[in-house]
Order: sequence, then C-alpha cells, then structure tokens
Amino acid sequence: MEKFLKDKGTLAEKHTKSPLPRQVLKEVFGYDQFRPLQAEIIGQALAGKDALVIMPTGGGKSICYQIPALILGGLTIVVSPLISLMKDQVEQLQEVGAAAAMLNSSLAPAEYGDTITKIRQRQLKLLYMAPETLLKPDILELLDSVPVDCLTIDEAHCISEWGHDFRPEYRQIAPIRQRFPNAVCLALTATATPRVQDDICENLGISDAGRFIASFNRENLFLQVQLKHDPARQTVEFLKRFPKQSGIIYCFSRRQVETLCEFLRKQGFSALPYHAGLGDEARKQHQEQFIRDDVQIIVATIAFGMGINKSNVRFVVHYDLPKSIESYYQEIGRAGRDGVRADCLLLFSAGDTQKIRYFIDQKPDALQRQVALQHLDRLVDFAETEACRRRPLIRYFGEDYDAERCGMCDNCLSEKQEKIDITVPAQKFLSCVFRTGQRFGAAHIIDVLRGSRNQKVQQFSHDRLTTYGIGKEFSKKQWSHLSRQLVRQGLLEKEPAYGGLKLTQRAGEVFAGRAKVFGTIQEEPLAPARAETPANYDAALFELLREKRKALADAANVPPYVIFSDKSLIDMASFFPQSAARFSDMHGVGQVKLERYGAGFLEIIRNYCREHNLAEVPASRSTAPARTSRKTPLQKLRHQVVGEAFRGGASLEDLMAEYGTKRSTLISYLYQYYQEGQRLPAERLLPASQLPPAQREKVLQIFERLGTQKLRPVFDALNGEVAYEELHILRLYYLNRKKIK
Ligand code: ADP
Ligand code: ZN
Repeated sequence: MEKFLKDKGTLAEKHTKSPLPRQVLKEVFGYDQFRPLQAEIIGQALAGKDALVIMPTGGGKSICYQIPALILGGLTIVVSPLISLMKDQVEQLQEVGAAAAMLNSSLAPAEYGDTITKIRQRQLKLLYMAPETLLKPDILELLDSVPVDCLTIDEAHCISEWGHDFRPEYRQIAPIRQRFPNAVCLALTATATPRVQDDICENLGISDAGRFIASFNRENLFLQVQLKHDPARQTVEFLKRFPKQSGIIYCFSRRQVETLCEFLRKQGFSALPYHAGLGDEARKQHQEQFIRDDVQIIVATIAFGMGINKSNVRFVVHYDLPKSIESYYQEIGRAGRDGVRADCLLLFSAGDTQKIRYFIDQKPDALQRQVALQHLDRLVDFAETEACRRRPLIRYFGEDYDAERCGMCDNCLSEKQEKIDITVPAQKFLSCVFRTGQRFGAAHIIDVLRGSRNQKVQQFSHDRLTTYGIGKEFSKKQWSHLSRQLVRQGLLEKEPAYGGLKLTQRAGEVFAGRAKVFGTIQEEPLAPARAETPANYDAALFELLREKRKALADAANVPPYVIFSDKSLIDMASFFPQSAARFSDMHGVGQVKLERYGAGFLEIIRNYCREHNLAEVPASRSTAPARTSRKTPLQKLRHQVVGEAFRGGASLEDLMAEYGTKRSTLISYLYQYYQEGQRLPAERLLPASQLPPAQREKVLQIFERLGTQKLRPVFDALNGEVAYEELHILRLYYLNRKKIK
C-alpha cells in the first residue's frame, strides 16, 4: 500500500492493502462516524466518478476529498481561492500527519522550491493551489510528469457568474480539467442554486457528475431573535454567557463597529474591530489574533469571515439586520463548525428595517430595488415568526422542513402561547392611531397609551386625547408586540418610509365591535434566555486542557483548534480517559495526534482526576449524549428529558420545581413527546387535571365527538368554560388512554 502519512510506519505498516475510508476516518482524523453523505461521496470518488458536492459551511466537505486523496495512489490537486483557507487546511492535515502542502504567491522562495521538489519526488498526497498558480505553464508541465488522481475544486461557486463570489481566474481552470482526463473531479461548495450547480458542471465539463446535496439544517446552531431595544446592553448580557469563548458580532457600519468595540472593551471584554477602513495589516493582525484565541470577540462588518475556518466560534451576534436570509445564514454558519452547540442572536428592530428600506430606495434600478425588498421581507418574516425558526430558514433554501419544533430555537423553547381574545386592547390601540391622525409610528402611539409626558406627546397635545393613558396595563414591549400582530393581521398598515400607522378597512369592523381579534400578549417579564451549557462536562478540566492546547498551538505556530477542536476537549473533560487506548476513543484523536499529544493531555487529565477523585468513564458508557444524539449534540431535547422524567415517576410539580418551567410548558413538552411516538402513563395524567370529575367526563366526550387535532373547537363547544391548559392535559390523558384500549 502507498504510504499516506508522513510519519513512516504507523498506518503503512499495519495494512498491506488500501485502507477502508472508515479506517482512515478513525485512524487519521480520529472520528467515529461519517456525517451524512460523506461516505457516499468518498465511495463515488474512489470509484472514479465525478461529483458535485453541496454542503453547508461546517457540513464536513473537506473530508470528502481528503480521504480519497489519502487512499488513492497519486496526487490530489485542490484548487482553493483564498490563501488563508489553504494555509488552514494544510496545517490541519499536517497535524494529523498527512502529506499535504500548498503553492501560492505567499510562500518564500525556499518553501516554494521545497514543495516543488516534494511534488517531483511524489512525496505529496494533497497539493493545495491558487488557481493562478495552477495556470502557470511550468507548474502544469511539472504536474504532467506525476500521476494526478483527483482534481478538487473547492468553493466551486467561484466559477459561476451566477454565484455570489465569481472569480475570473476560476473560470480559466475549467480547461485544465481536460489535461488530467484520468483524474476524478470533485467540485465542492456551500452555496449553490440549481443555476449555479448547472454552471459549475457545465464549465468543468462534468455534466454526468453525481450531485450530492446535503441538508442545510445546521442542528447545533441555537437560533434566537430579540427585539432590539437597548442593543449594547442586550449584547453584553448575551456575552456574559460565553466567558473566554470565541464569537463574532456583525454590525451594519464601520462606525457602529468602532463604537461597539470601544464600548465592549470598556466593559472589560476582549474585542477587536474588523472592517474595510482598517487597512490590510491591521485587519490581518486582528483576524490572526482571533484565530489564535488571543482575542475573544471580533466586531465586524460583513467583510469578516470569508477566509476563516476557525472551528470553535461559539456565538454570532447580528447587532444589525443582515441583508438577506442568505447572508444571515452564511454569517451564522461561521459558528459551531466543530458540531458543538453554538448560539446565534439577531437583534431586530422595526427601525432597522426602515433604515434598510431607505437604502434600498436609493438604488437606481427598479428591478434591484424589488429584489432587495423581497430579500428584506423574507428576513423580516424569519425574525417575526412565532413558529420554529428553522422553518422559514431552511425552506428558503428549497428544502422541506416538516418538524413542528426543532428544540434549538427561541420559539421552540419559549412558552407556546394559546391565542386569546385581545379585542379590547386592540380597540384601544386602533382608536389611539385614529385620534392621533394616522401618521405616527407605534412608539409614539404606545407613549400616548401609556400616558407618557415626553416632549413629542406634549408638543402635539396628545396628552389631551381621550386615549391618553388608557393603556397603562401593558408595558411598552407588550404593546409593541401587540401592534405588530395588528399589522400582521391586516388591521393596520405601516407607511414604508417612516413607519407611520394607518387603519385599514378591517379595522373599522373591530371598532364597531363586529369582529374580534385573537392574538397573544407577551408575558412580562420575559423569561431570560436560559444559559444552557453544552454538556455536563467538567468545566474546570476543560479550562486546563484549553490552556494546554493554547500553549502547544503557540509553540507550533498554528491556531489552537488545529491541535484539538473544542469537541475533542469536551470529550476528554466528559470521559476522563486514563490510558492511551481510551484517549484515542476521544473525538478527533487519530494515531498521529495520539502520538504527538496523548502523553501531555493524559498527564493533565490523570492529575486532575486524582485531585478530584474522578474515575474514567468506561467505553461501554461512552454512548453518552455527547456521542449519540445527533439531534442536539451533547444534549437531549428538552421535551425528551421531561417526557422521560415523567414516565419515570416525576410529577408535574416535581418537574416544575426542577426545571423552573411553567406547568403549561411542561404539558406541551409532554404532548410533543407523545407525538414522537412515546407513551405516557395515563393513570398519572388524569390526577394532574384540576377539573371536577363530571366536567372531565364532559371534555372527554367532546374529544370523542370532535377529535383531538384542534383544541379550539373543543374550547368553543364547552363555551370557553374550560381553560386551554386543562384541555391540553385531558387530551394527553385521552390519547394515552385510548392507546391502551
Ligand atoms: P466545510 O468545509 O464543509 O465548512 P469542514 O470540512 O471544515 O466543513 O468540516 C467542519 C468540521 O467538522 C471540521 O472541524 C471537521 O474536522 C469536522 N468533521 C468533518 N467530518 C466529520 C465527521 N465525520 N465526524 C466528526 N467531525 C467531522
Ligand atoms: Zn425551532
């Protein structure tokens, strides 16, 4: 078998014939399982069939060509557009002991010459190149003299004028493909509409290529949207949950970047700015410091992130609204590439949308304006949805998404509120809009309703209106939430430029008392975002391991995540391996890393365990949540935890106390658990109902008659006498009782 590791011996000695992809995955990369589509793509490449691979950022594209490259006899050329990406990949490959190198304009002549020699002597398995390097006649000639088995085009969308990052030099590599007719061709990208896909295949002359399109659902990203009211404060609150962890904050303008960065630094955070006004040197430096974990936070305009592969970005904040769902998705995609939970917060305000509308209006071209407005609308839909956020997001990319709840977004975790009759507050709001002349935005209407004495109210003498001060029962936030519902329900129209509100015809019906309004009143105070930690790993040990990683990385002059990913360290801090054998079970520990770093990390773990009287978690139990549950890495979904606890004998009261969750929320978790095919003990559900027995019976009879799909008809059939919460619990009882029969 060909040697594919630099360290002669290890694998080469063990196997006499080509290793299996799975073996390479474990022994070289230290991973236990392929991610979706990886095995298929690798199989395709090894069978000599071309492939177009579309996977979201962090999906694991690299392995799809790296494993074939290590198995195939000859050289794999990887065309990559950015030097920083190339460098990163080569460093990571060298860390796992693979023979990889790069050629581009950033290399010193000696290094360049050294790589050329290695190519000539057929010592390399993977050669990363900038397109313009590949086009050089002397390089082409050199490559003609060695066996090239695979031509990989990374970031393949750069080849298409329809892509978002067209690069003319990429276009020129297309004919090169003909020069290596025996090489299998793999084209990879994270973004591709069908049009771009066709374009890539056509240009590369691989029309028969198998197309492998992975799901765009990044399950480990927690998605959250907050109304932006005090953004600096909101950001600080959010950041407090991530001490010492890496993250990016995106702002709309350079000035905002500077101001926020300054503010955060004053608050004691480690932050650096990044924007086009900074100059190449400063930008490069700030990026480098971030990648090396020397600075925690980068505050950036959208210009940041393209060329970085940092796998341990734990959060992304959108301080301002991104341009489109696509850019939002791309930006949050930079978080959590290691598969460990990462948090994404979008701060959303109506004011921001107006600002963007204003900019769009300045565009000279009508079609451009229209497209930009559509993008904005889809984004606003995403931000305002009360359902699972993954639905609008994933469907945007043309993928089906049917799950009712993902369990990894704010809406899925928040109380699922029943709609209630909000006619009276709606009438108050609408009449205040009318009385103030239908030209003010929601903020002013709310000030009038709540009886504010601010200048604007007085200036317009709105303190003399009959609607002045009639809405003190709700907070600003609650009114603002209500007003958005009125807009969504078509009772109010928002004037696009300044956000002034006008009544629609339907509003007249509500005024006249002929139509009712249903909606939700946001609960006050809002439940604080729960600070879930990714797993039950030992945080103090993790910290020690992180320090070790940083020291090793600095010594080797590479970024820390190249040594071990966060996920690897979390594994170590969860399973406390004591032996080399057990250590190599940890995520991302292949043979070379075991040899290089095993002893050093093991020493720390052993010492720590001795001091704290901890024992190794044996292999049979490493099917701990960290490894098995693909749904939420490291964590069971809340409803599953609650469902299992209830089944195990915990009462609703116990669960309320344990999780600090409301009864209604628990019941909805149980329902979700049931919907996933789990059974609940009916005999323990019935006592949870607080209704007198006669009424319970009545409810159950109505379920028999009307079914359990919707509760509204049941609620109405009972003339609203039974609260929804009771209906929920009895429905659960009814369904589980029925099953037994
Ligand atoms: P992409 O290029 O699609 O953005 P990468 O190839 O950089 O993604 O992979 C993202 C991260 O996931 C990397 O840290 C990589 O090592 C890791 N990874 C890839 N495949 C697997 C796997 N099968 N098991 C575990 N981790 C994986
Ligand atoms: Zn969700």
